[in-house]
This record gives sequence, structure tokens and C-alpha cells, in this order.
Amino acid sequence: MLRHLPSHRNQRTPGSAPPCAPPGHASWHSSPRIWVFDLDNTLHDASPHIFPRMNHAMTAYVARHVGVDEPRANELRTYYWRRYGATLLGLMRHHGTDPHHFLWHTHQFPDLGRMVLGHPALRHALLRLPGRKIVFSNSPEHYCRAVLKVLGVSDLFDGVFTIEHTRFRPKPDPTGFLRLFRRHGIHPRQCVMIEDSLDNLLTAKRLGMRTVLVGAPPRRFLGVDHAIVDVSRLPSLIRRL
Ligand SMILES: [Mg+2]
Repeated sequence: MLRHLPSHRNQRTPGSAPPCAPPGHASWHSSPRIWVFDLDNTLHDASPHIFPRMNHAMTAYVARHVGVDEPRANELRTYYWRRYGATLLGLMRHHGTDPHHFLWHTHQFPDLGRMVLGHPALRHALLRLPGRKIVFSNSPEHYCRAVLKVLGVSDLFDGVFTIEHTRFRPKPDPTGFLRLFRRHGIHPRQCVMIEDSLDNLLTAKRLGMRTVLVGAPPRRFLGVDHAIVDVSRLPSLIRRL
């Protein structure tokens, strides 16, 4: 069950070591050391409030900057999303859109605290995972950091790798994954990717990561090692990953 979350009071102080199981912990040696999390619809539920607002903002942006009416802007937004995997890529390719300008203006949520729906056990679940944790999202950095703050888990992550860091090559493009590995000095075989997107998990699997789908069990398991209904179940998989 998801609910709106108050900001958390027990966050780590900046620069302190990330929590992890002690070296003698039974799961330590058999566990992967690096957990790579998608953000939207993985660490929180963006569908009820955030995605509709985001889609509306993107449609308004397309209408204003391409110079079309709203119905045509909505068509263009969904067409570019389907063709390129992201509306932004179509705007960059066909309209010379500045990606930073687009991302800033389409990811403004003054009432984010009331829109983010997180699992009440999220923080507890993350604390039980031994090793480094990184967010890898197709969303912009300012938005990712704001969501993590609302969820009360900012201090549990060792890195936030976003669309800007991929140089606008969003998942499932392997280019962004390879930049992530380089930036953090990690090997894909050390990593578990936790995601709601089957396409993104397929790339992760092909690159050598272990994979966990967050959501209903898929019809096809290509690229999926395990599936969980929500991220709070992740600790139950530690021994199997
Ligand atoms: Mg997602």
C-alpha cells in the first residue's frame, strides 16, 4: 500500500558511510554490492499524480515552442515518445530544443510533497540492502533529488545518475548504462538493476547486470531474473541475487 510520506527525521549526516550489513552478516558474501534503482514507478508511484501533470506540462511546452495547438502538441508529444523513447529526443532532433530548458520547465512540481506516493517500508527496505545504492533515471537531476527528499531516502544513495549524465541518451539505450559504469567505476556484474520497465531491464541484462522487475509478473521473462510487486520486497531476494 502506498501513501504520502512525511520528510524523514533519521537521515544520515552528509558524508557519513552508507549503511550496510557488517562483514560477518550471512548475506554479505553472496550479495551484489551495487544496487541500481530506477526512480519513477520503482521507488515511488508516479502514475496517479506526477505522470499526468508531467504529460500536461510537456504538451504545453510542445505547443508553445513548436507553435501548434494543444491537440496537435499532444499528438507530437506521444509520437516522439513512441518513436524515440522520449519526447525530448524528438524535440531535440526535429526542433532544436535545448534539453536543459525543456527538462526544467516540464518538471516543476511546487506541491511535490503531496504528489509523491511511496511505500511506508521503503526506507527500512533500503537499509537492509548491503552495499552501494545508485539511482539511474531518465528524469532530470533536480526532480530526482526532490523526489528522494520527499521519500526521506536521499541519504541512502551514493549517486544520482540522470538523463543529463547520459548526455540525453535515456534508457534503454546502452550508452547511458556504459556512462553510468564509467562514472561510478563499477562493473555490470557487480550490479542489480531494479526497474519497472521491461525494455530497460533487457538492456541491463544484456550488459551483464542482474535484474529485478518492480510490478506485476511479466508474460515474458526475457531480461528479468526476479519480479516483485513493490520495492519493499527487495530484501527477501538478497540471498537469490
Ligand atoms: Mg520507471
